[in-house]
Amino acid sequence: MEDTLLRMPVMCPECAREWLMEVPIASIAEALASNGYIRLYAPCHDKVWEASCLEREQLGEYLEVANLSRSARKIKVLGSLAADPCPRATR
Ligand SMILES: [Zn+2]
Repeated sequence: MEDTLLRMPVMCPECAREWLMEVPIASIAEALASNGYIRLYAPCHDKVWEASCLEREQLGEYLEVANLSRSARKIKVLGSLAADPCPRATR
């Protein structure tokens, strides 16, 4: 299985420095769709943390953009993402 990488900015929770993290599109799409665990990493503090609600939404947006620029790849979970990206945080 090919692993197409998506570059997205993440912010270190310790020092607020921004990093470009490369994540495999397929596994991120799956984790978003199934409410699974998404691990983010900041090299400055060697910090690993779980993506927050907001970060998950951002990931979803980046995925959507990446998906648009790669029409060959179909990520069907995007429909369910839009419907229920983060049930607790909104409204
Ligand atoms: Zn840091």
